[in-house]
Amino acid sequence: MPRASNAKIVATLGPASADRRTIEALVRAGADVFRLNFSHGTHADHQARLDLIRAIEADAGRPLGVLLDLQGPKLRVGTFAGGPVKLVEGAPFRLDLDRERPGDATRAPLPHPEIFAALKPGIDLLLDDGRLRLRVQRSGQDFAETIVVDGGMLSDRKGVNVPGVVLPLSAMTDKDRSDLAFGLTLGVDWVALSFVQRATDIVEARAIIQGRAGIVAKLEKPAAIDCLDDILAATDAVMVARGDLGVEMPAEQVPAIQKRIVRECRKLGKPVIVATQMLESMVSAPVPTRAEASDVATAIYDGADAVMLSAESASGRFPVEAVAMMDRIIAQTEADPFYRDAIDASHTKPAANTADAIGWAARSVAGLLDVAAMVAYTSSGSSALRMARERPRAPIIGMTPMRETARRLALVWGVNPVVCRDVTGANDMTERAVATAKDLQFAQPGQTIVIAAGMPFGTPGSTNLLRIAQID
Ligand code: PGA
Ligand code: MN
Repeated sequence: MPRASNAKIVATLGPASADRRTIEALVRAGADVFRLNFSHGTHADHQARLDLIRAIEADAGRPLGVLLDLQGPKLRVGTFAGGPVKLVEGAPFRLDLDRERPGDATRAPLPHPEIFAALKPGIDLLLDDGRLRLRVQRSGQDFAETIVVDGGMLSDRKGVNVPGVVLPLSAMTDKDRSDLAFGLTLGVDWVALSFVQRATDIVEARAIIQGRAGIVAKLEKPAAIDCLDDILAATDAVMVARGDLGVEMPAEQVPAIQKRIVRECRKLGKPVIVATQMLESMVSAPVPTRAEASDVATAIYDGADAVMLSAESASGRFPVEAVAMMDRIIAQTEADPFYRDAIDASHTKPAANTADAIGWAARSVAGLLDVAAMVAYTSSGSSALRMARERPRAPIIGMTPMRETARRLALVWGVNPVVCRDVTGANDMTERAVATAKDLQFAQPGQTIVIAAGMPFGTPGSTNLLRIAQID
């Protein structure tokens, strides 16, 4: 059966959700895309999870997407000789490249040679998700002397963020490259790049991926926000990665940036995922806070394509309940009459090109006639994306001969992907669309559907045809 809601759910798999029964339950609860987080787990772990997803998909009745999330250049301090140390406000603290010498209360190894050249007096380093703050006083090629601004306990391998500084790092480390090569052999549908700083990070990844998966740029650096337009032009989709973003910049700036990113992505018709801490308290409790429920709803009112669960589904006590809760919040929000007003009010005119003109026209037809479903024939997925961009009232059916495309479309707002064989002509196209709309119970006899396709059939990017058909 198709999903009843428009917005999609991305669920991260982890130790709490690695077995067949749990993944099946997550699918039943409403998960559309599974995220394999390569910051954790072995290749064998991820292979096993992917095999389970594909086996479950065969019985699920709808394509399931798989998103490989690369760790990216996450900076970490080294280890400490005698366990955690206490950093006291106002005290000096040194960072250097000497990874052989374990840290203590006055210094720690920071085994990232590229960083030191980018540090200057006055720059702040944030440690352990922003809990500790160090300010650089003096730095050289292999060291930085800092003063502790916000003190606290520091322990082995805690993360380090350098907000506001474009670091001379590629978005892909050696580990990422080998993880990516492995993931592409598994056949993942999307690849997420962490800590993207510039559009060339995406260009670099695209040269390796070569169309075998869609690219999700994770926006979690202020530097990326500074060149948002270029990054959006280069990427296929985006994740508002609020976890690191909220460390790299003040938390109070994240909501406006989230809304801006969602708006810009909707303008371009590129999928956008809102991620991190959405139902965080469900890591240990069977119900979310009211603020968390409201946070999910906000992303839905804004028209985000997908909302994501991280620790809630990967390592929490209530993975299935978290997906079910997210699904209920989406359904309730989309059932609010004001939801349609909000979606329409934030809709913008598309670019002046044929594909967008067809999407726009389909939306106008649906506004005029009582359209029961909108069908997009799509080989690359682009026609379905153009239709989703319009955020129509009627459900979208993305019909494609490519199983890979169907799986990729599992991430996209409102799209119900269906794998079909190649169509042979306009009549065949119409008959098949009508039959599928009936099969999915979106349309009944007497109702109208709208079909968008490209002639000649099967040519990517050729969307140039709009047909209105009656169900008989
Ligand atoms: P992560 O990315 O969970 O891989 O850190 C998401 C985020 O930072 O919000
Ligand atoms: Mn992150």
